[in-house]
Amino acid sequence: MQVIDGIELYHVTAPLPAPFSPSWIPGTVRNTVTFYLVRFITDDGVEGWSGFTGAGRERVGIGHTLADLFLGESPEDIDRLAERIHIMAVGGNFNWWLEPAFWDIKAKNAGLPLYKLLGGSSDRLRLYASSGELRDTGARREEAEARLADGFDTMKIRVHDWDEKVDIEHITDVATHMQGRMKISVDCNQAFRLTAKADAPLWSLDRAKRFADAAADVELAWVEEPLFGEWHEEMAKLTAYSRVPIAGGELHVMGYAELARMIKMRCYNIYQPDAMFTGGVKQSLDVAKLCREEGVKFSSHTWTNGFGFIINAHVFAASGFADEMVFEYPLNEPGWVPEGRDAIIKQPFMHDKGWFNMPQTPGLGFEIDHEQLKKYGKCFFKASRKEVHWMPEALASMT
Ligand SMILES: [Mg+2]
Repeated sequence: MQVIDGIELYHVTAPLPAPFSPSWIPGTVRNTVTFYLVRFITDDGVEGWSGFTGAGRERVGIGHTLADLFLGESPEDIDRLAERIHIMAVGGNFNWWLEPAFWDIKAKNAGLPLYKLLGGSSDRLRLYASSGELRDTGARREEAEARLADGFDTMKIRVHDWDEKVDIEHITDVATHMQGRMKISVDCNQAFRLTAKADAPLWSLDRAKRFADAAADVELAWVEEPLFGEWHEEMAKLTAYSRVPIAGGELHVMGYAELARMIKMRCYNIYQPDAMFTGGVKQSLDVAKLCREEGVKFSSHTWTNGFGFIINAHVFAASGFADEMVFEYPLNEPGWVPEGRDAIIKQPFMHDKGWFNMPQTPGLGFEIDHEQLKKYGKCFFKASRKEVHWMPEALASMT
């Protein structure tokens, strides 16, 4: 039986071509893309990779637990491995991002791109351009025109102002300007308040209703995360009230169990799990299946980095929703562009006039650029069934 014989963990910090200020983390300017990278290696040399967004050194200590839980295990037995990830989560350490690396191995073993192994047949995904920064209306009009010229027929814009009038003016202006040429949606990023650097507005149900009314008046395609993520009852009220579809679901770290309850409660019209946060590939597909059964929609969230994008692309391509929904393509010039977003991946995931052509190589379908990894990454943990090395000093120079 094939077993996991090696684990390596890296911390990667690669430069962005220009600063990027995510709307959902007020007060933040990013000059780099930062993530943890894992490589699982089987005894017969098959590699499974995944990469998860990082802040500081919060995952530097997880190596020994990974070695205890995964070395010597079959990479094909994903239910068992997912149970191990759940054990880590109960212990306070959510690491659903590891699960796709096992699928990478399983699909490589099968000689298939992952989405095909999962039964998917959608080789080409219709994308929507997902912006990431706040802009004034003039700059947003220009951005929407640029994305339309790129070939996108849908774009998601961002709002995060203290004054609801500013938010409403913003969507009204851009949607009216693009009317009939491009669909506009909006992400309010209210489900999880990232107030680490500066405070952020917190919408009430009444504010969300007024916003949904304004969004419906200008025919937005959907409104994303207009309420705090734990307010399930309020969400269900808003969704029942709204004339525009309400979407969300990217950060419900309890995974399928929580999202299934939310689906049954009709918290949203469109569910957007992210395999990296909400239970891995398997649970995301279970969510898609339940969405179909319950008559609601599904489209994966992808915004973390190139790994998050491609892993969720495989899920979406196998979800059964790829012919009726658009899929998130994070793009915010000049800082958040494929070359920076997909750091250390040999061929960044470019769009093709607003479409994404699924990779056809076995597994997740990317190659690590080892030169770039050497340049921007530091290996801080390495283990095999024979020996374990923990090198926290590798990160001593980390800023
Ligand atoms: Mg979102």
